[in-house]
Amino acid sequence: MHNRRQFLKKSLLLTASGLLIGSRPLLSVAQDGDTKTNKLMPPPDLFDAQVLDIDFWLKPRTLDLIRPASGERTKLLYWKDGEMIDSAYQQFCHILRDVHGKKSAPIDPKLLETLWATQAFIARFGMTKPLEVLSGYRTLESNKRLREDGIPAARKSLHLEGKAADIRIGDLHEEVLGELIQSFKQGGVGFYFRASSRGGWIHTDTGLQRSWKG
Ligand SMILES: [Zn+2]
Repeated sequence: MHNRRQFLKKSLLLTASGLLIGSRPLLSVAQDGDTKTNKLMPPPDLFDAQVLDIDFWLKPRTLDLIRPASGERTKLLYWKDGEMIDSAYQQFCHILRDVHGKKSAPIDPKLLETLWATQAFIARFGMTKPLEVLSGYRTLESNKRLREDGIPAARKSLHLEGKAADIRIGDLHEEVLGELIQSFKQGGVGFYFRASSRGGWIHTDTGLQRSWKG
C-alpha cells in the first residue's frame, strides 16, 4: 500500500509537470450500468489534496462558477498576494446568493477557498469545466420550502449562514468530487447520489469535519 501511494504521488507530480501524459490512462470511464456512465472515475486515492505543496496555496486564485438556476457565470481572479480582492468577492457572494429568495449574504471566505482549491486541483488533470452551484446561501424561507418539498435540508443548515454550497462538476463522478473535497479536511461533506440524468451533488461546508450520505 505504501509503495502504491508513493507511486501515485510520483505519477501525480509527473503529470503536473506534463511528463506522464499519454503513457498511462489516469482516468477511466465509470461503468456502473446506469445513467451515470461516461463520468470520469480516477482511482479514488489519486485525488488526495494532502499531496499539495505550499506553492499551490500561495498562487493567485481564479474561480469559475456557474449557476444553472439563473444561467449566470462568474469567472474572476478573487485572491492574490494573500488577500481577497473585494470587488470579486462581492460578485461571488452575488452568484452564491439565494436565487429563489432573491437575497445575498456574505459568504465564508473559507468556502470560496474550498471551491477554488477543488477546481484548481482537478484542473491539473485537464478538467477545466466550471463548477456548478445548485445551492449557496439560503434564506430561512427557502430552506423551509425545500424541507416542505421533501428535498434534503437541515433545519439549522449552514447554507443559512453562507457557509455551505451544493455543487457538481460536469463529467466528474460525485463520489470522486466528494472524496477530493474531504481530503482538504476543511469541513463537512455530504454525498447525494441520484440516478437521474442530471446526477447527484456534493454538499460542502466550513463547519466541523464530518461526512454523510443523503
Ligand atoms: Zn447543502
